[in-house]
Amino acid sequence: MSETSPRLRAVLEDIPTYKPGKPAGTGGPAGYKLSSNENPYPPLPGVLESVTAAACSFNRYPDMACTGLMDELSERFGVPRDHLATGTGSVGVAQQLLQATSGPGDEVIYAWRSFEAYPIITRISGATPVQVPLTPGDVHDLDAMADAITDRTRLIFVCNPNNPTGTVVHREELERFLDRVPDDVLVVLDEAYREFIRDVRVPDGVELYRRRPNVCVLRTFSKAYGLAGLRVGFAIAHEPVAVALRKTAVPFGVSQLAQEAAIASLRAEDELLGRVGSLVGERSRVMDALRAQGWTVPETQANFVWLRLGERTMDFAAVCEQAGVVVRPFPGEGVRVTIGEAEGNDIFMKVAEGYPKEG
Ligand code: PMP
Repeated sequence: MSETSPRLRAVLEDIPTYKPGKPAGTGGPAGYKLSSNENPYPPLPGVLESVTAAACSFNRYPDMACTGLMDELSERFGVPRDHLATGTGSVGVAQQLLQATSGPGDEVIYAWRSFEAYPIITRISGATPVQVPLTPGDVHDLDAMADAITDRTRLIFVCNPNNPTGTVVHREELERFLDRVPDDVLVVLDEAYREFIRDVRVPDGVELYRRRPNVCVLRTFSKAYGLAGLRVGFAIAHEPVAVALRKTAVPFGVSQLAQEAAIASLRAEDELLGRVGSLVGERSRVMDALRAQGWTVPETQANFVWLRLGERTMDFAAVCEQAGVVVRPFPGEGVRVTIGEAEGNDIFMKVAEGYPKEG
């Protein structure tokens, strides 16, 4: 056998493999997983039934056009069907957007720190990532992002609320930013946590899309709708982009189980959004407690909170794990803690209370 292995693209050498949040209960007492921004509620019985029914025919390929789901989404958002595209989670759709817009020599702008997949999928496309630091308050620096635009810019991600800080950008600043973006640059408003927003100053990306042909909105069923394990996300975009998303889709990427669960979830939206309301209540409880304890925590509009811990990050994460909750450390920066069941949140708050506030 030859010693030579197949030649791989050089760009892959520097690309890290996406790291998922650590599961709960892997050694040690940690029983609550607060590391992946998941919805802690189990599936609704009606949603489970629709998945079970779909499972009876998984010997067949799924409906590649996601017809039923497209109809539901079209009605729910008041957008034409051909302005919609589904994919294997919103991260799958984000990767398709890169394939559709960017390649070697092109530039992709996003804030940093933000969603970990952005640098990975950008570099896989061959394009150059342009990372614009968050402000000292952990918010997108939209002026600096606009200043970073060049002739080579093809796509810009705005993560609103931002993962992992939970911070948001408001209507006026986003509109001002969009006014500065050339028409031939695609702006992707990643709204994975949209349903958790209570700040009325945050615009709904779908309203911006209606007025701006270069805006694309990314949404997911993984968070508020609790379908993370089924992998279904979607984009709302004007026709040329939506058509490109259909071309770049992995054939049959969204399973019939996922499609049926998404349809059933949209039909059970009131109940699911009621759960989101309870999680938002828990978020307030956690934020109030952390602030009363003396922590400086950026205002969050998502289902997680961000503690800037610098060099103490890994230590804090280890103390949490010992106490029974798994959180998400970003070494040298901070920890992101998902708002989960009240019991898990209580454990986290207790650890935070006993932990020194200054390094
Ligand atoms: N965007 C953001 C900002 C996220 O935090 C996540 C999940 N962590 C995603 C997109 C992708 O979610 P999914 O692929 O499950 O839809």
